[in-house]
Amino acid sequence: MPPKLDTQDFDVIVIGSGIGGLVTATQLAAKGAKVMVLESYLIPGGSSGYFERNGYRFDVGASMIFGFGDRGTTNLLTRALDAVEVSLDTIPDPVQIHYHLPGDLEILVHRDYEKFLQELISRFPQEREGIRRFYDECWKVFGCLNAMELLSLEEPRYLTRVFFQHPLACLGLVKYLPQNAGDIARKFIKDPELLRFIDIECYCWSVVPADMTPMINAGMVFSDRHYGGINYPLGGVGKIAEKLVEGLEKAGSEIRYQAKADKILLEKGRAVGVRLTSGEVYRAKRIVSNATRWNTFDKLLGDIELPPRERRWRDRYRKSPSFLSLHLGVAASVLPPGTHCHHILLEDWQQMEEPEGTIFVSIPTLLDPNLAPPEHHIIHTFTPNWIDYWEGRSAGEYEEKKEEAAGRVIDRLEKIFPGLNAGLDYMEVGTARSHRRFLNRQDGTYGPIPRRKLLGLLAMPFNRTSIRGLYCVGDSTFPGQGLNAVAFSGFACAHRIAVDLGL
Ligand SMILES: Cc1cc2nc3c(=O)[nH]c(=O)nc-3n(C[C@H](O)[C@H](O)[C@H](O)COP(=O)(O)OP(=O)(O)OC[C@H]3O[C@@H](n4cnc5c(N)ncnc54)[C@H](O)[C@@H]3O)c2cc1C
Repeated sequence: MPPKLDTQDFDVIVIGSGIGGLVTATQLAAKGAKVMVLESYLIPGGSSGYFERNGYRFDVGASMIFGFGDRGTTNLLTRALDAVEVSLDTIPDPVQIHYHLPGDLEILVHRDYEKFLQELISRFPQEREGIRRFYDECWKVFGCLNAMELLSLEEPRYLTRVFFQHPLACLGLVKYLPQNAGDIARKFIKDPELLRFIDIECYCWSVVPADMTPMINAGMVFSDRHYGGINYPLGGVGKIAEKLVEGLEKAGSEIRYQAKADKILLEKGRAVGVRLTSGEVYRAKRIVSNATRWNTFDKLLGDIELPPRERRWRDRYRKSPSFLSLHLGVAASVLPPGTHCHHILLEDWQQMEEPEGTIFVSIPTLLDPNLAPPEHHIIHTFTPNWIDYWEGRSAGEYEEKKEEAAGRVIDRLEKIFPGLNAGLDYMEVGTARSHRRFLNRQDGTYGPIPRRKLLGLLAMPFNRTSIRGLYCVGDSTFPGQGLNAVAFSGFACAHRIAVDLGL
């Protein structure tokens, strides 16, 4: 028997409940739209979701959270929650990252800007002036962004309004939009080791070196960490999505879990609905995809010819690697006194961009101990990893390779956490295959990265697509990866749709 087809009508359907999708949905619901979010997994959040095992509550991905500040306009997570009358307690992190780099370069990025600069200057005294000038330049970018309401750059009336309200900030952004952080760093800094440091400062969130990292994003990250700061949500990162869903429902809209979109339905070239893998059909005036642009155009749109705009984007951007993720439960004794929450470990600069080169570490239980049983901590550690390594392996071989890879990471981490191996209480290993399966991301990718040096952020697509009625939101739209960045994309997407629907 063919599956039963239900047809229901909404103003907007959002495919996916990542933070990009949920911010779009809640912003629209707050404006009175009837929104349906369709999520294939059991809970919301996507890469910022969570899972529980043996008394541990692990973050799936993100844990260094920007956007929870209480002033300015760039605190987009705070604003997204406020818009649907929910809130979340957060815990300030005094140090963004503790870097453990080649040549015993140990640097702490303190929340206090001056303290951070002094830390870097004490290691590179000859670059005292260059350090200050580079990071001060980042503040200029941030100052421009933080002066204005961040909405859709595809909406001419907003652009005109914001230009007349903040002409200097707008001109500042126009200046920085086509620039990359590396070019600006080299204007002020000459020391090769310090330039390497700027590279890893960019790489650790953009997954490309400074030369390929847009200055707009660098300005945001390198300043907001000292302004709004890094703040961890009490109860784990998964709480952000849970709270947004609570707000969405309070505002009269809906979410369905285990609702996997199979096709975006087109009529006369216009997106009009979504068919689930179950065969059910939902229709709406506008459709938003929070899946990556690769998933959206290769899978959800089926057999259509790739529009030229998407082809051009793919000529400029490629999929970044995924991650090998180790979710560890460890005895508290493993952590030396004074350990900070986030670490980056790299032993050889040549390996920075290689698979298993840079190791990222997050220990959220240092901020919220309730995420682990008493006397235990969570260590979430991950390192870049391509899908190709895992494809075509038998189940047994896959498990064996996972064990081996996990062993390599743990051995290296012994340098900063002596006794880690012996102190292990629980371990779950995820690969590019896990990211592909559970997060529905093609090849498990972390998101788009430039194929070559581009003009800053100019080539990143906005929310509208070449398909009428279809919008994209999330990390493969402007301004890219990271929770606060996809929240920006969500604000912009909702704003554009609200104007299109006359809300
Ligand atoms: C290991 C790791 C560490 C990270 N660390 C940080 C960090 O410290 N700080 C930070 O800010 N960012 C971090 N990030 C990046 C950040 O998590 C992402 O950029 C962001 O969460 C992406 O959000 P999104 O809205 O684009 O979509 P996603 O999180 O990818 O969510 C998309 C959602 O859509 C659903 N979906 C997809 N296809 C379908 C379909 N066909 N039908 C129904 N549902 C579908 C998925 O199930 C998923 O729930 C990290 C990412 C990873 C992987």
